[in-house]
Amino acid sequence: MTTDTTKTLCPYCGVGCGLEVSPPAQPGKAVNRDSQGTPIWKVQGDRTHPSSQGMVCVKGATVAESLSKDRLLYPMVRDSLDEPFRRASWEEALDRVASRIKTVLSTQGPEAVCMYGSGQLQTEDYYVAQKLLKGCLGTNNFDSNSRLCMSSAVAGYSQSFGSDGPPCCYEDLDVTDCAFIIGSNTAECHPIIFNRLRKHHKKNPKVKMIVVDPRKTTTAEAADLHLAIKPGTDIDLLNGIAHLLMRWGRIDTFFIDECTSNFPAYAEVIQHYPPEVVAKRCGISVKELETAAHYWADSERVLSMWSMGVNQSSEGTAKVRTIINLHLMTAQIGKPGSGPFSLTGQPNAMGGRETGGLSHILPGYRVVKNPQHRAELEEFWQLPAGQISPVPGLAAWDIITGLETGDVGMLWIAATNPAVSLPDLERSKAALMRSPFTVYQDAYYPTETAEFAHVLLPAAQWSEKTGTMTNSERVVTLCKAFRTPPGEAKADWKIFVEVARRLGFGDKFPYSTSAEVYDEYAQVTRDRVCDMSGISHARLAAQGPLQWPLPKEKESRLPAVKRLYTDGRFPSPDGRARFGAYHSRGLAEPPDPDYPYVLTTGRLYGHWHTQTRTGRIDKIKQMHPNPFIEIHPRDAANLDVQENDLVEVQSRRGTSRFPAKVTKAISPGTVFVPMHWGALWADKAEANALTHHISCPDSLQPELKACAVQLVPVVAE
Ligand code: SF4
Repeated sequence: MTTDTTKTLCPYCGVGCGLEVSPPAQPGKAVNRDSQGTPIWKVQGDRTHPSSQGMVCVKGATVAESLSKDRLLYPMVRDSLDEPFRRASWEEALDRVASRIKTVLSTQGPEAVCMYGSGQLQTEDYYVAQKLLKGCLGTNNFDSNSRLCMSSAVAGYSQSFGSDGPPCCYEDLDVTDCAFIIGSNTAECHPIIFNRLRKHHKKNPKVKMIVVDPRKTTTAEAADLHLAIKPGTDIDLLNGIAHLLMRWGRIDTFFIDECTSNFPAYAEVIQHYPPEVVAKRCGISVKELETAAHYWADSERVLSMWSMGVNQSSEGTAKVRTIINLHLMTAQIGKPGSGPFSLTGQPNAMGGRETGGLSHILPGYRVVKNPQHRAELEEFWQLPAGQISPVPGLAAWDIITGLETGDVGMLWIAATNPAVSLPDLERSKAALMRSPFTVYQDAYYPTETAEFAHVLLPAAQWSEKTGTMTNSERVVTLCKAFRTPPGEAKADWKIFVEVARRLGFGDKFPYSTSAEVYDEYAQVTRDRVCDMSGISHARLAAQGPLQWPLPKEKESRLPAVKRLYTDGRFPSPDGRARFGAYHSRGLAEPPDPDYPYVLTTGRLYGHWHTQTRTGRIDKIKQMHPNPFIEIHPRDAANLDVQENDLVEVQSRRGTSRFPAKVTKAISPGTVFVPMHWGALWADKAEANALTHHISCPDSLQPELKACAVQLVPVVAE
């Protein structure tokens, strides 16, 4: 345990704020304590971090309070889910895991071995897991909760540009003329990004902010124009804006001709989106639509930002590409203050993408289906030709159906809580219950998912292991360990290595430190879009956070490449960005007479995901004590529901109950429920008991944001 102040990164969201953490006791100062008097590490914003410049939100400021509560301290095992866990040695637990993998490999083959990780893992953890599963075992069955979060952005960027990779940077927030925020409650979910934008917006009255959201969120309240569109009409709106830009001649034909392809197909599609039709479908006025298009057309620099409201959709990839289309037709990309910017959810969702942490991709922004990419990795990892499977592995929902059919013989879950976060939760839980063998590797116990495990492996978390994370603007930060892991907890990458050695792959995993893991990984990215070959732990420790791609002079101190595609060239086969031509398909499960309301789900300012950490922090629990359902006053009157009345929400898949919050912030016909509460924190108040698994065909991201529900007031007995 260090006695010094350590610079590190917030382990919550993809903004990636720098933190400075000091021990509870400092010479000459009172001991820092939590609300119960327990000494805790002191956390404050790191003013030198380029991404956050000293700012920090309530989650980052209170994170140290969660470090010593409800930790999983020792490996635990049991033979069946009916039995209680018993403490085991690491030797016994790891032998069990390795033995099970060997059995499944010999009886069902590599495609029956499956791992499900998380954007909470560090880059080094991710990389070792990819090498083990995709390289040594020959299965691409590594997926992560980023599938529920960012996979539509990955697919959208890849299809439009030829590669994944957000092209923008946070400096764009300070210089844009128009911020177009769609499907993102940035003020609550990415608060430090929003603070930065808001400062610029307030200081410069000419700067416009458009927010597209069915709810009047905190973000929408700050906007010059709030477009409260009906759920599922995003593509109508985006094509409608494009239609007006085209009609007004406010497009950049030079950029379109020189730098893009497939414009004629797109131009044909947007002809079908005249303002009167679009306004009616979206539930907004023609004037509002025209104002949005004018803001876009009249701004020299337009920055789009989006998050779950776009990605978590059965047409998520189409929505992402339709946002990108607007930037391509107006040449709003590759210059300061402009571009399509997806905001990543988790602290290392970007690192997960870079290391190939989804079942269809490979390290270095390579893809499973590309024979050259597989061959490059086989050579790098010194594996036999053909060792890496050409077949994409199971995505999140496929794992559930694989458990149902028996095709998944063992499931290894690391740093995530799918028994709360997956859609169609009763079905998901029933599938987890049927799993022949589940390993759950996490820092906390209890969690909802631990109940489905046969082996629990205690993981060291943020502050207890050294590794790197990449934030939304491609900035890589070294997160140094400054505390000793509690009990027998170990870094995730070390656990993966120990199992790999038991499986006979010791020579492939010779690392003794995470710095060695990173050195190898960085070489895999050489000359790829996400080239990190000039980055090392030592360089990050000496110079601070670095943004990729680095300048070609690897060791120089030249400024980082802040924006991608500044020269109008893209990493596609023909060097051009490609327009995607999409008609709107709407919601996968629209409302009907049996289920007449649209449920949308989302996040609150203080909580993080399934509350594994934030549910253990007093200040945040006080801030958001209970789940609730937002209902418009008109719907509440029709249902005879008053504020705080209990409402049962029914969908085709399940039911949950929430106290009503009657508010005009939500549109009539739509209701909102926060997604943070699982069975551990509230009784029958799980948002995902209601949601469905219908997914985007390109990204395989489920439509967690919308489903049809019925509302029934609960009569007090
Ligand atoms: Fe942490 Fe995100 Fe808050 Fe920054 S904005 S302090 S990264 S939770």
